[in-house]
Amino acid sequence: MALSDLRREMVLSAIEEHDKLGRDAFLKVYGYGPARDYFLLYDGKRYDSKAIAGVAHREVDGRPLRAKDFSGGNDTVARALSNLGFEVTRPSDIIDGHSPENLLQKILTLKTAASATPGARKRHQPLTLLWALGRAARGYDRVVSWVDAAPALESLLQEFGHPGDGLHAEFPVLRLYHHGLWDLPGHDDVPTASGSAAQSWMRRNQPLSGLRSWVHDLVTDQPAVRAQIVLRLLDGYFRDVDREELLAATLLTPEPNAITPGPDEATPLRDGTPTPSRRVVTINRLIRDSALAEQVKLVHNYHCQICGIRLTTRRGPYAEGAHIRPLGTPHNGPDEPGNLLCLCPNHHVLFDGGTITINDELVAIDVPTGQQITQIRLADGHTPDPRHLAYHRHISEDS
Ligand SMILES: [Zn+2]
Repeated sequence: MALSDLRREMVLSAIEEHDKLGRDAFLKVYGYGPARDYFLLYDGKRYDSKAIAGVAHREVDGRPLRAKDFSGGNDTVARALSNLGFEVTRPSDIIDGHSPENLLQKILTLKTAASATPGARKRHQPLTLLWALGRAARGYDRVVSWVDAAPALESLLQEFGHPGDGLHAEFPVLRLYHHGLWDLPGHDDVPTASGSAAQSWMRRNQPLSGLRSWVHDLVTDQPAVRAQIVLRLLDGYFRDVDREELLAATLLTPEPNAITPGPDEATPLRDGTPTPSRRVVTINRLIRDSALAEQVKLVHNYHCQICGIRLTTRRGPYAEGAHIRPLGTPHNGPDEPGNLLCLCPNHHVLFDGGTITINDELVAIDVPTGQQITQIRLADGHTPDPRHLAYHRHISEDS
């Protein structure tokens, strides 16, 4: 038997019989349980996808398939029905919708267990998500075999997890699956994330796994949404971790030459005098920002938070990450999202020099005149820390 033998009219005739008998009788007659994960959508109604496919199959070789003859799920039933032009969906998809808001809500409502470290939450799911987000940012395949995923996740847990929380990568994947963020294509019998049975299910099945398609599409197509998730995860779970190392380990660093203009972008300015020994001035105010600053810039889509300008260069958009409380002695500001602004080069210079500062109402102030310039632009997932703003006002007014 092969579901690839199905034809669209066979499926329609199974749907017709389903409607005639009613769902309960249809499932009972052909010996199917109700679908848990995959539903066929037709004419505004939901159908149990596996039962419909199995019954439709009787027109291939004269008898309907029984439930135990084949597995349901994405790789079999969902794919076969999709190939015939039917819409196949999941209950969570129908209820939740696929908006960035719902995705962020799901990130904020991750159910993470208490860590062995007092007061902390386990980092398994956040690390699994960062790993997947980094892969999405680089354009890698959405789903990965467990043989490859497990060691990668375990090494992240080893390096960035809390001591004593364990290195098992099976549970976070299962939790994320049941939370509606993760995909295990081809499986609709996924166990809950507890006990050795769940772990052995993962080892036995060695599933492909990765972000759900709609999540993957959102974080691939909308880097600002991806960066919002990254910043929220960093803020919620990794305040005491070296963020540069974590972002590098999860590939959430800009690819070389992807966005930041390189030295060869420097523009030679000539003075216009056509002499052989013409003077060449090289303007090369190149800011190599941290990986964290790159995430902040992504959240703002490279718009300056003071003037709103978004510079576009031949290599893509350009903005600079400005530290509010300066790094290094004597100020010792931290490299954390709340200590960063996304600014155009002009406003970066004015802000660093203390000509512009920002008050507690997030209004930019011209320090020499005391005049209010503008309310600064904000983006979801990134808020300047009032303590760092107060520090910046202090050093600006003193200078
Ligand atoms: Zn600006």
